[in-house]
Amino acid sequence: MLQMLSHYSAYMFDLDGCIYSGKKIYPGAKELLISLIRNGKKIYFISNNSNETSHSVRTKLLEMELPVEKIPILVATELVGPYLFEKYGKVKIHSIGSMELESSLKYYGHTVHPIDSEEQSDFVVIGRDTAFTYQKLYDSVKALMGGAKLIAVNFDMYHPGEDGTRVPETGALVAAIQAVSEVNELESVGKPHGYPFRKAMEELGVDPQSCVMIGDNPYTDIIGGRDAGIDTIWFSHGKTFPVDLGFQPELTVTNVEELLRRFEENHCITKGGGNEGQGMDGAMDEGMHDHAWHLPRP
Ligand SMILES: [Mg+2]
Repeated sequence: MLQMLSHYSAYMFDLDGCIYSGKKIYPGAKELLISLIRNGKKIYFISNNSNETSHSVRTKLLEMELPVEKIPILVATELVGPYLFEKYGKVKIHSIGSMELESSLKYYGHTVHPIDSEEQSDFVVIGRDTAFTYQKLYDSVKALMGGAKLIAVNFDMYHPGEDGTRVPETGALVAAIQAVSEVNELESVGKPHGYPFRKAMEELGVDPQSCVMIGDNPYTDIIGGRDAGIDTIWFSHGKTFPVDLGFQPELTVTNVEELLRRFEENHCITKGGGNEGQGMDGAMDEGMHDHAWHLPRP
């Protein structure tokens, strides 16, 4: 059962489909974030975006005039490097995806080969690659046949585009590679994997009971939150929660505008109040930067 909406100390939000869609911000998103900040709540954005950095996502949010200067943003693109380092140390990688993915992997000390390189690698890492080709499919299968393990930044098949379109995501590319290679063993670091939730809770210094995860994707945001022991709020956008999952989120609302209204109706969030916590009064703290995981750079 959901606690009073205001009783959580940390509010974890998915971004695409929750706060914005494409370049459009949802009505109520800015007001809800401002209310939470003014009430001293901790906020954390957890995105399965697999081709951008937290820095570029923050820039996009600031251009939408959202008060996100001090809100940590966790982007799946930047999770693979620390995940592999923590689990396996520095490794050799063939990567398919954006330059941002490649530079993040290098940042954590891994060796990254172009996908068509003849070098042996330990892992083939797949992120969203908008220039994915038949040749890249061929080369990635070849690397897997050579003994590399498959890592997906996320399993998402698509994310919502503007005007109701579906934008192909990393999972679609992974599906093609798996179909040819017949490699079923696969790791992923994006939601619903517990890694991003654990990282967020560590950074915020909170336990699962004091968190709520808010998202629009039942299979990533809601299952991931639930598996991490966190209460969940689902934005349905008019759809029905999949019955085959065998559970329901603690709260279902249509969208962020309805969640804002629920907060206000419950009188649990004041519109004024102190400007504490992740305040809106300036730039990020000195020394705090989007790439930092509190993990020493190897
Ligand atoms: Mg989403």
